[in-house]
Formats: sequence, C-alpha cells, structure tokens
Amino acid sequence: MGFKQHLPALCGRLFVFGLLVGVLGTVLPERGQASLDSYCGNDGRTTAYFEKRCETLFRPALEARVFPHLYSFEGGTLIFETTLPRRVVQKLYHAAHLVRAHFFRMTGMNKPVPGDRNTVLRIKIYGSKHDFDRYHTRLYGLPSNNGGIYIEQQSTLYTYERTRRESLYTLEELFRHEYAHYLIGRYLVPGLWAEAEIYKQDRMVWFDEGLAEFLVGSYTEASVSMRDILLRQIARDQQRMSVTAILSSHYGSFDFYRYAGLFFAYLYEEEPARLGRLIRTVHTGQATSMDQLTAELKADSVMANNFQTYLNDKLEPYQPTILSAK
Ligand SMILES: [Zn+2]
Repeated sequence: MGFKQHLPALCGRLFVFGLLVGVLGTVLPERGQASLDSYCGNDGRTTAYFEKRCETLFRPALEARVFPHLYSFEGGTLIFETTLPRRVVQKLYHAAHLVRAHFFRMTGMNKPVPGDRNTVLRIKIYGSKHDFDRYHTRLYGLPSNNGGIYIEQQSTLYTYERTRRESLYTLEELFRHEYAHYLIGRYLVPGLWAEAEIYKQDRMVWFDEGLAEFLVGSYTEASVSMRDILLRQIARDQQRMSVTAILSSHYGSFDFYRYAGLFFAYLYEEEPARLGRLIRTVHTGQATSMDQLTAELKADSVMANNFQTYLNDKLEPYQPTILSAK
C-alpha cells in the first residue's frame, strides 16, 4: 500500500507550530471547525493551497487540532494522540494490556523479531468519523474506507471514535484488532508488512486478520472469549466459508475476517499442537514453509469437517439456517 512518510508528529508539530505562530501570525487558522476546514478542507478553492503548504506548515498545525491530547504509557512506548478524554484512553490501554498478555501466552513469543524497530507505538484516534473521513487521507495519504489501520512502517495505528450507526464494531474492538497487528508485526513475523517475502501473494492475509480478530476477544485475564458479534454474522450468512476458502482469502472483502477469527478459535480450543506449529512456522519468516503448511491445512478433510462441526456447536444458540460450505 502506498502512503506518504511523515516526520514523527510530536517533533514536527512542536517545532513547526512555534514557527507558524512566530512567522505567520494571524495566517494560522483560528480554533474552530469552520476556520480549520477553510484551510484544510477538500473544496477546490483551498485544496491546492493546502497541498502546497500543508506538508511543511499546516499539517503539523492540523494534527495539533485533530489530536490535541497526548497520553503516554509504559515509559513513552505507547503514545495516544486524540481528542478523547483520559478515561476513555485509559480503558483502551487496559484492553491493550489484555490483548498483549494473551498474545504472549498463546504464541510463546515475547521478544521482538530480528530487525524490529517499533519499540514505540503511536496511536492516533480521531474524535469522530467525520474527522477521519475529512482529514485522514489529506494528512497521511491513507484510505479512510476502513475502521482503522496499522502501518508497521510507521509504527502508527489510526482509528476513530464512532457511533453505533456508523460502525458495526466499537472503537475498542477496532483498537484491539489493530493493536494485535502491531504485536504480530513486532513479535511474530520477521520483516515489514507487504515487504517481506512471507507477506507476498496474500499468503498471510487470513493469518493476520484471523489472529487479530481472535485476540479482540481478550476480555479477561483467564481466557479469550468467543465473540458474539462474529457468530451472529456467520449465523446470517447464506453460505459458510470452508477452511480452504478461509486460507485462500484476499483483501477486498471483510467477510473472511469472521471466519478466520473463528478458525483461530477452533485451533486454540481443539488443536493447540497444530496452532503451535503454525505460530512457529510464521515465526521463521519462510514463505515456502508457510506455503507447505497452508497446503497441508487445506488438504486436511478431517479438520475441514471438524471445523464445520465446531461452528455448528458455537452457532447452536443462533439457529443457523444454512449448513453447507462452499
Ligand atoms: Zn486487520
């Protein structure tokens, strides 16, 4: 995925903000949405001006307006930038703590992979979907047609506060999911997302999204919970995905996320030895080893049936009407 590199926000923001106030004086947008939009909005009159100046001057000022609060945890290794109050961020931090504890326990991997440099995770949370839609692409060159995104190359996680109408998932669920991507990138998969060989040809798509969806259910210290919202969606599906279909997933649809999450739940509950082998294979970073194991999993008809039986059991309270797998 293409995106623009940018300076570390804090340094760039503080330095340039001072420059703006000192040199430009009243040119700096006043506080308030309307004046901010007049400089950084998407209308034709101001876009060219913004493009020209935002990169070096207005972007840091806009970042300071869109993410006015900075909360730092764990010695500055987890940094939240947001409009949200501390009590909301504190809850997200607690969620991160649980996801991480289960990730370490489940994978047995708690040391960064060789070459990892993402000691510090920056978490940028827009105060609303409106802000995300309006400023995300303009600020960072990233798409806003998603609930959140983690960019390993920047060690930065982006998401936004939302209403129930705006999203099926809550901010906390999205945060948990994206935070799991951070852990996978730092502790499990060598090399950078989309750049290392193991990520090529979409071979890691089901693994990345499935493990992240599974870990979202880390709600207690004791265990990872089955997520009701995933089961409710599967119960409504006209046709279920088979293991082979899950393991052949590509980006472009979100349908496979719920099945890949349930597949990890299946491995976690029913086949821990196979899950361990999968984790160790991914940890080698060897694309050919991953291909071999994936082919083996796809060819295992016993496991394919066991997984559908597992789904049947989990879906019993939801009374699914379709039981065939494509
Ligand atoms: Zn994801």
